[in-house]
Amino acid sequence: MPYAEIHDMGTTARRKLTPHRRLKVWERTGGVCMLCDRMIDGARERWIAEHIRALELGGADDLENLGPAHEACATEKTRDDHRRAAHAKRQKIRFIGAEVSKRPMPFGKASPWKRTMSGRIVPR
Ligand SMILES: [Zn+2]
Repeated sequence: MPYAEIHDMGTTARRKLTPHRRLKVWERTGGVCMLCDRMIDGARERWIAEHIRALELGGADDLENLGPAHEACATEKTRDDHRRAAHAKRQKIRFIGAEVSKRPMPFGKASPWKRTMSGRIVPR
């Protein structure tokens, strides 16, 4: 059986940021957007404390995993993260056998027939 690496996709709980913590997030990059590398004009542009690794992809909800980002840039990243999280969940569902294949393997475990070592086909 091929080796498959499956990451645990448990979602980390999200804590609300105080202004003090938002300042710390800002200072991590000196106000440079994590996603587009351009300076954020904090007074004029909306920005958020973005999770470098998304919570739903197993990222931690602490300052080490946070950086400032334009709201517009973050919207785009969030969409991509959702897509990747959905893909990982589908992979996990298949891996743990939570979903039965709609096209079972011929003579596989789900088939009423099996092929013996000698090649004969017999009822299971
Ligand atoms: Zn940006």
